[in-house]
Order: sequence, then structure tokens, then C-alpha cells
Amino acid sequence: MEKLKILLVAFLLLIFQQTIFAQKKAVDLIVSGGTVVTMDASKRLIENGAVAIAKDKIVAVGTSAEINRQFVSKQTINANGKVVIPGLINTHTHVPMSLFRGIADDLDLQEWLTKYIFPAEAKNVTEAFVRAGTQLGLAEMIRGGTTTYCDMYYFEDAIADETFKAGMRGVLGETVIDFEVADNKTNAEAMAYTEKFLNKWKNNSLIVPAIAPHAPYTVSTEHLNAIKKLSDKTGAPVVIHVAETQTEVDDISKRYGARPVEYLARIGFLNNRTIAAHVVWATNAELDLLKNLGVGVAHNPQSNMKLASGVAPVPQMLARDLPVGLGTDGAASNNDLNMWEEMDTAAKLHKVVSGDPKVVNAEQAFEMATIRGARALHLEKIIGSIEAGKRADIAIVDFENLNQTPFYNIYSALVYSTKASDVRTVIINGKTVMRDKRLLYLDENVIKKNANAYRTKIINSLSSK
Ligand SMILES: [Zn+2]
Repeated sequence: MEKLKILLVAFLLLIFQQTIFAQKKAVDLIVSGGTVVTMDASKRLIENGAVAIAKDKIVAVGTSAEINRQFVSKQTINANGKVVIPGLINTHTHVPMSLFRGIADDLDLQEWLTKYIFPAEAKNVTEAFVRAGTQLGLAEMIRGGTTTYCDMYYFEDAIADETFKAGMRGVLGETVIDFEVADNKTNAEAMAYTEKFLNKWKNNSLIVPAIAPHAPYTVSTEHLNAIKKLSDKTGAPVVIHVAETQTEVDDISKRYGARPVEYLARIGFLNNRTIAAHVVWATNAELDLLKNLGVGVAHNPQSNMKLASGVAPVPQMLARDLPVGLGTDGAASNNDLNMWEEMDTAAKLHKVVSGDPKVVNAEQAFEMATIRGARALHLEKIIGSIEAGKRADIAIVDFENLNQTPFYNIYSALVYSTKASDVRTVIINGKTVMRDKRLLYLDENVIKKNANAYRTKIINSLSSK
């Protein structure tokens, strides 16, 4: 009898164990250990946390114990001693301009644009140039933990192609501007190119194709109206520089009798698909307009400082809960694509200008680089935080380097002392694109060789008439 009892207990135990095991769901990747900074609505921080990923999505976030009880995966990444963050979102770039990094510094926007950038672009920008510059920019961004970027340039179809091949996410806008440029000679050509581009990339898992009218002072009202119409028809986002300098405000006021944001609102151009870069010179009434119309804003503190464009009213934007993200702008006016520097600068710049050390705190700066940046790009439903159901865009960051030691507060450590070089592993759309500081889809040696060859070409082109 006693023997039978033991047998019965053993049998029940076996059944119990099997049920538990059978309940474990198979996933494709588990990132386990480390502190998970979720950036969800309650800003949950999970010590010894874990993230379960299946295909392109996050299926669960919790403690390592919880996740390991529920899920099994052949592939795991040990994040012990590290911080697991949502991939950073760079809301404003001109990625191929990486090849113009350092070409002309210490000038104001108009002189910089008309004497150097526009001539250099006219003589050098080809599809091959754009591909080489995009690869360089992508490698730099992925190394620094950026997983999504919002771009505006020429040959944007080639940029989309390179971006997709590198496994990076992008909101990519083909530039429309009222003068002849490298890829399109007329507005009609630019609009035809753009429509074809939008059709080709719609529904892509990584690329959101967009339309990018350069600015209200370089694109006529008639052409802006046509762009708005195309965006209404296709649902494509519209990326535009707005109120970058005082000169622009004077120019637009003279031409249209209204300040840039007021003018764009008056012609019905702004809505919840618009992404406005800079917005340095905006009144409180204009900020209210942006908020009411659902416009996303890209704040580029380093570019604005370098070109002495001014200081965007970011504390006032945050007070209105505007969707404002951070951007580097092109590498020619920054001179890098480093979102860690942008966070650090954003947090400090507004303190200096306002004389108030409490404005734009570290947590707000980190939020602008993640979930608020996602809102600026109108993508907050799929990216910007580590939450079940969102796309798996994640960076794993070393947290035990000298510059981070000792550590007291997570947001302070991330914004004020962590560097791009502390990023170890990057996952985009569920796919690992950098593992232990090694890029898996981009060849850095080839990229550097190509970029240096273009440097020689660019220098020669500027010295010849
Ligand atoms: Zn720009």
C-alpha cells in the first residue's frame, strides 16, 4: 500500500512538471537580466528584468523570474549589469550629409547653406553618393543605440533601400524644393518621384515613406498645397523645416503677413501627420496651434547652437505636452548623429537660457529621445517604449564603465554620463543588428574607405569652378 502511494505521488509530480513545461511558450529571443527602462505610461523600471520577443514584436516584459517561468527561447542575451532601453529615436536627419561632416563650420545658416552646402550638393550628390553617406550614417546611429530615424534628402528611395538592408527603421522623406536638385529638375518631376516612392514603400515593415518639402521659404504655397493633397490621398507623413531662424520669420512675415507656423496653419498645411523640424522661433500662440493640430516637433539643440539659429521654447512645449522629440539634424551641422549628446545638450541648454536648473530634467530628456520622439513621428503605437505588443526595438547598454561609476539615479546616469560608445547590443524589429559592439549588416571598413574617397572628390569639386 505504501509503495502504491509513493508511485502515485511520483506520477502526479511528473504530470504536474509536464503541464508546467508544456505551458512555457516558445519565443525567438529573450533578453534577460539587467535593468529594463520601459518608458511605458507608468515609467516602470524593472530590476533584473527580461523581455520576450517573438518575430518582430515584444510579447512580454517582466522580471527575469516571471519571463523565464513563462517562456523558452533558443536564443537568449544575458543583460546582467546592463540597462535595457527602448531604441533611441532621432527625429531629424539628412543622413547622406554625413559625407559633408566638417566641410564648413562656424557659419550662420544662410552663409553655410548658400556658400558651401548647396554648391557642394550640386556638384556631388548622386545616387551612389547618397548610398555611401547613408551607410556611414546608419553605422554611426546603430552604434549609438538609435533604432529609428526621420530623414529628409534627395534620392530617398536609395536611402530607404540602404536602411532596409541594414535592418534600421526610418521615416524617410523625399525632399521637394523649388529649385533644380540632384534627383529632380522640376517640381513636377519631384512630385512624380515622390508618389512612386510612397507607393513602393507603403506597408514596409521598417520604412515609413514620407514627403519632405524643405521649408516654407523654399517651397511655394501652391506646391505646399499639392503636397498636402498627396499626403491626404496616401496617408504619408510630411516632414518640413519650420521657423528655424529669425531670418525665416522675417521673410515669411514679409511675404505672407504671418509668422511661419501661423502661415502654415492658415493654408491648412499642418495636421497630425506633420513633423516640423526646429520650431525655434514660435510664439506661445503658435505652440498652441501646433498642439491643437497634433503636429510633431523635432528639437535639434546642437544644430541650432552650432548655426546660432536660436533656442527652441522646449520648456513651453513640454508644458503643453507637445510631442517633441530630439534630432541631430545632418552631420554637417552637428557634426555627428549621436543621440546621447543630444539628450545631454537638451537638458543643459534650456537651463542656461531660462536660468532655471529644474527645466528639462534628465527623465524628460530621455523621454524626448524615446516615447515622446515616437509621438513626434506619430509612431507611438508601435515604438518608443518596451511594452508587450510593440515592435522589438531595443538597445542594451553597458552600465559599469568608468564614466558611469558610481550610479545613483538611472535617468541621470543615462542622460548625463552614458556615451554612445557604451551601447553594446541593438535589436530592431526583433532582429539583432549589433551584437557585442559588432555591426552585423554593415561593413565599417568598406564604409570608411568609401567615405574617404568621397572626401577627396568633394574637396576637388569645391576648388574647381
Ligand atoms: Zn534639417
